[in-house]
Amino acid sequence: MTGWIAVAGLGPGAAALVTPEVTAALAEATDVIGYIPYVARVTPRAGLTLHASDNRVELDRARHALELAGQGRRVVVVSSGDPGVFAMAAALFEALEAGPAAWRALDIRVLPGITAMLAASAKAGAPLGHDFCAINLSDNLKPWELVERRVRLAAEADFAIAFYNPRSRARPAALERTFDVLRDVCGDDRPVLFARAVSTPEEVLRIVPLGQAQGEMADMRTLVIVGSSRTRIIAREAGPILYTPRWAP
Ligand code: SAH
Repeated sequence: MTGWIAVAGLGPGAAALVTPEVTAALAEATDVIGYIPYVARVTPRAGLTLHASDNRVELDRARHALELAGQGRRVVVVSSGDPGVFAMAAALFEALEAGPAAWRALDIRVLPGITAMLAASAKAGAPLGHDFCAINLSDNLKPWELVERRVRLAAEADFAIAFYNPRSRARPAALERTFDVLRDVCGDDRPVLFARAVSTPEEVLRIVPLGQAQGEMADMRTLVIVGSSRTRIIAREAGPILYTPRWAP
């Protein structure tokens, strides 16, 4: 039996946002590997082994996937959103690069998914309609000084900025410090979108000006988008639309 690995994105939550390509890979798989809540989104069936593991051991999980594929298993490594955005695809290639030469002969594919910032942006309107960047506020894998420098430079460059992992138990103050840096560069008026659990039954969207934005408004399931100087709000009875025009003066 020929093994393979598909590193697949499950999208932001809704079943309708899983691509047919990912569904097909899961239907052929013998093993699914991933962080517990992501593996829980895969429907169990006979012949499919689910390996749910803790999120802090990404490289172990990647090596496990490579070993199983080397034994001829058909392995899907699952991430939420897109596997290439702050997720398992890069971890898998890190393990591949450092691992035995034989692993390089394996059939490895990355199957894209809808990443949180695109799902959140679509729900709010089009805040990423002009130039933007994405910053991971987790400092598990990089020093806080680097995060802060990137936040400041992105704000000075007038990007709309999407923030992943805005808050966690280990770093409750990261988002508050980020807002301080942003207020320093951009003032108080920028719209800030807090998009929580997008495309799930717990979804909540909230827009506040930067001057009123607080770290406690986000949790681990929230994606934060801070607008550029061009980002605007269209007020409507049905709820505001947040968008960034496609041109800049
Ligand atoms: N690979 C994922 C991101 C993993 S990092 C992707 O492409 O979306 C985890 C962070 O993603 C969370 O802390 C949160 O900021 C964001 N996120 C993931 N799913 C989300 C959702 N449904 N709604 C809002 N934010 C989400």
